[in-house]
Amino acid sequence: MDVKVLTDKDAPDGTLKGSRIIILGYGNQGRPQALNLRDSGSNVAVAARRGGKAWKTAESDGFEVMEVREGVAEADILMCLLPDEVQGKVYLKDIEPFLRDGSAICFAHGFAFTFGQKEPGSFDLIKVAPNGQGQALRTAYLEGSGLPCLLAVAHDRSGGARGIALCIAEGLGCLRVGDFETPFREEALSDLFGEQAILVGGVPALIKEAFDVLVEKGFSPEVAYFECMHELKIIVDLLIVHGIAGMREVISGTAAYGGLKYGEKLVTEETAAVMREMFDRIESGEFARAWLKETAGGKKELADMIGREKDLTIEKAGSEVRSLFTRRPEEQDKGGSR
Ligand code: NDP
Ligand code: MG
Repeated sequence: MDVKVLTDKDAPDGTLKGSRIIILGYGNQGRPQALNLRDSGSNVAVAARRGGKAWKTAESDGFEVMEVREGVAEADILMCLLPDEVQGKVYLKDIEPFLRDGSAICFAHGFAFTFGQKEPGSFDLIKVAPNGQGQALRTAYLEGSGLPCLLAVAHDRSGGARGIALCIAEGLGCLRVGDFETPFREEALSDLFGEQAILVGGVPALIKEAFDVLVEKGFSPEVAYFECMHELKIIVDLLIVHGIAGMREVISGTAAYGGLKYGEKLVTEETAAVMREMFDRIESGEFARAWLKETAGGKKELADMIGREKDLTIEKAGSEVRSLFTRRPEEQDKGGSR
């Protein structure tokens, strides 16, 4: 393997002892990260906007909560878990001028630094990027496991930045399963490419198109939904556990033959060219500029696209089919299911 796999053994003992960790951004990642780090024994507090949702939630979770600048000034390690699109602005206004020399700032995604929204200051700059949503990070931690993460050190001013990153990953539960070390830029580019080409771009687009074809051919939307979307989870689980060839071994021969002989024709030279174009747009910073412009304009195009998607037939059919599989309240107590 080209990339080094890190585990709990790599985290130096006692590095976080006495360190004040401040969580800035108490959302999808911030809350689970705060809870995991506190449960792992770290001294954690939260910095938030007074009166905001984050402030109230963090307080009701039992954290000490303080104003953003106050938290930044108090931090030995600042976990910057704000949405990517606001990080640049907040960094210049509320972080850089107040973060003490010799402290560390830790990100969960390399977007803002990679696409030049800011320059590192006189502190350690590290990244611990869990490979999944915050709730999954928390659930895995509570089950005694963890999500893998990508870890990076961009600036090591203290000489101990890598040890801090490793100990943060350990406190989050990520080192329990093994992590990869990869530069900020590599994580940022590959994360965005994976999202667009596969996870939330390519796969949903294929599902929607295949659904439309079945409906156009006269199938009921519910059956089309079932075949094109509902069964996907079973196959994804097989892919993750057994790999592509392993998945083919446990499906029917009919499915394996049809999938390989005809399914692969979907990816043409043109598709490959679109993927390369997608990568180039990310690498050149064109995508980041477009997203920041969209954010500055109030995310209208994003809202329109989400609105149009909500109106699709597949969404209506999906919510009806899914409701068939949701347990009724009276059955939940009995543990029964339909
Ligand atoms: P969220 O959108 O969930 O975070 C919102 C939080 O940021 C809220 O607590 C909000 O506070 C606070 N916030 C927003 N703007 C400001 C501001 N101007 N000043 C102070 N606080 C502010 O973000 P995510 O958790 O999704 O993302 C955080 C980081 O984690 C990003 O870098 C992202 O790429 C990364 N990441 C996210 C993953 C995910 O699945 N979501 C997975 C892996 C990494 P308030 O309640 O006051 O509005
Ligand atoms: Mg991502």
